[in-house]
Amino acid sequence: MFYRQMETRKWQELDQAHYLHPFTDHKALREIGSRVAVRGEGVHVWDTEGRKIIDGLSGLGCVNIGYGRPELVAAASAQMSDLSFCQSFFNTTHPAAVLLAEKLVKLTPEGLNHVFFQCSGSEANETAVRAIRRYWDLQGQPGKKLIIAREYAYHGSTHLAASLSGLEPMHHAGGDVPMPVVHRIKTAYPYREKPAAMPDDEFGRLAASWLEDKILELGPENVAAFFAEPAQSAGGSIVPPMSYWPAIQDICRKYDVLLALDEVVMGFGRTGKWFGSFHYGITPDLMQIGKGLTSGYLPLSACLMSDRVADVLIDKGGEWAHGYTYSGHPSCCAVALANIEVIESEGLIENAADTLIPHFEARLAEFTDHPLMGDVRSVGLMAGLELVADRATGEAFDGALRVGQHCSAEGLSRGLAFRANGDTMALMPPLVMTVGQMDEMFAIVRAALDATA
Ligand code: PLP
Repeated sequence: MFYRQMETRKWQELDQAHYLHPFTDHKALREIGSRVAVRGEGVHVWDTEGRKIIDGLSGLGCVNIGYGRPELVAAASAQMSDLSFCQSFFNTTHPAAVLLAEKLVKLTPEGLNHVFFQCSGSEANETAVRAIRRYWDLQGQPGKKLIIAREYAYHGSTHLAASLSGLEPMHHAGGDVPMPVVHRIKTAYPYREKPAAMPDDEFGRLAASWLEDKILELGPENVAAFFAEPAQSAGGSIVPPMSYWPAIQDICRKYDVLLALDEVVMGFGRTGKWFGSFHYGITPDLMQIGKGLTSGYLPLSACLMSDRVADVLIDKGGEWAHGYTYSGHPSCCAVALANIEVIESEGLIENAADTLIPHFEARLAEFTDHPLMGDVRSVGLMAGLELVADRATGEAFDGALRVGQHCSAEGLSRGLAFRANGDTMALMPPLVMTVGQMDEMFAIVRAALDATA
């Protein structure tokens, strides 16, 4: 389409003149020049120079079924022809949103029977916070206002979602973030937080006890909810021990603190199950999903609520003054239904669990001895390779050296998109990657690491 109009340099000039990118150092970008992506098919993306790049990140943890799926194009096109827009306010609904809500209730953990749609993961988290605050107000406990979230968390980039997030640079990025309602605890980060001789299981319970300590410090009567991702993605692919979540769930029940689980990245097969909750055995009160819901073909997210929460909002609350023009957008919902149909009919999650994840884990294990490697960790098809200055002590690189950035640039120059979260290299391949393509990906990871060492 558009890309035939100009050569790469011209695109880059125009890009720099007018387009402000998310999470980007625009001065540095002037030196590097944007990569101009123009086409995607399966696990590959092509740029204006005709370079074919393996997408080791599923876009941004979203393109789970790969690029260029005609089923999704057809679903969007048919829905746009039938009914291009329909607001969901004013006592109106439409079939695609109704069917999608029903489908999501069937796919997600027991008891999450109500679905609120919006367009992004950030907004899904906003909805969750507002629903939680309203729930406690309506329950006659308006004091229960505080939210506990974790270090290294990423919950999005709106003012409130950035407050929930535990990444320092986001807090200095504009406004009085984090907001005072958000309180922070350390996360279950075995490589950085686990005492050397402690077994994993014990560490999982210790890390969960940090939540209990914080609830007691703030007073259970003041704590509304705990927000967390099943495993943390943008914060550095941080994977908790299996004992962590059952202990967290017990603590939330003990103190009547709602559990709002951010499955924006972990949902739709990333762990080898439909949702991270099934992997870790979690039954949340609210669950936020996005990204893989449409495999990134159109923007859509959802906040699912349990009967416990939704019944109070509905029975006691009257009109809830919350929502978006594009809540339940018809084409987005139609594309999500088509996306789920592809995942089911092609058995993508079963294939990930039976074939891809075991291969992924075996190949990752080969990197533990690399001279740059501090830690190799993964859950399902999400991995983090944490690069360190000193393997014996775990000493991190001096931030100014930008080792992770260098490594990801080396990967890209060899035809692989993989990302640096600080100095932790992230991999999140699409569920449709073949074993052969995975081997190609790891050959480039190896070359990029060797060129960085
Ligand atoms: N939650 C998690 C766990 C995420 O990783 C992200 C984005 O990466 C978000 C929320 C925010 O989603 P969005 O960028 O669609 O607002």
